[in-house]
Amino acid sequence: MTSLDRRSVLRTTTSAAAAGALAAGCAPGRTDRTVRDAAVPRPGARTPVHATRPPTRVPGRPVQLDHGPRDGRAVALTFHGRGDARLARALLGEAERAGARVTVLAVGDWLDERPEMARRILDGGHELGNHTMHHRNICALPQAAAYAEIAGCADRLRRLTGSIGSWFRPSQARRATDLVTRLARRAGYPHVLSYDLDSLDSTDPGAPAVRRTVLDGIGPGSVVSLHLGHAGTVAALPPILDGLRRRGLRAVTTTELMT
Ligand SMILES: [Zn+2]
Repeated sequence: MTSLDRRSVLRTTTSAAAAGALAAGCAPGRTDRTVRDAAVPRPGARTPVHATRPPTRVPGRPVQLDHGPRDGRAVALTFHGRGDARLARALLGEAERAGARVTVLAVGDWLDERPEMARRILDGGHELGNHTMHHRNICALPQAAAYAEIAGCADRLRRLTGSIGSWFRPSQARRATDLVTRLARRAGYPHVLSYDLDSLDSTDPGAPAVRRTVLDGIGPGSVVSLHLGHAGTVAALPPILDGLRRRGLRAVTTTELMT
């Protein structure tokens, strides 16, 4: 790629990010090059610590995964990726201050509105996955519509990061139906990521209740369902991470937990 190409791709990306904030559903400019490859270092820019990665395959485990090894000391905090970007950045910052890594399953229409968040998540050392295009009740959709929900978000992730993301999680469903599982595999995801602990944070019960639900239910190998975009979740994260540390548990990416 010439330096002129790099500048023009970077400009496209930057203007798309600005435009994306104004119009939901306004996708970033099409390019076969990834944002990461196209980026020219800027003064003061954060150095990416994690590269984007292809979908994770865990040999010997079921297609649908809801927990990791029970004999280790790791857990995965996994987030529905949508909502207020300031709350999302605040949550990622709290995780990073405590040395924790999280997994964000991004909704495609959120990435259209906030394309810069894909890079923010990866640059923090976190993991990024697919949580469908519009967060519809995917298990109730006809086959073609369900596949479009998976493929639409995969396309956003590929254009923004060069990968369709590490994991797929169905929307409005804890577990995928056989049909949705087959469609996810067709779209390129070897596994469907479920969870074994629901924090119930999306009901906004208050930070102390979120903390209690998580710390009462968590154990080695747990995959916890949480949500970006909720102030109570941001406030609950530091005491949750503190509680994990006291028990000798570490919050790692889902790929690190499973592999
Ligand atoms: Zn969700």
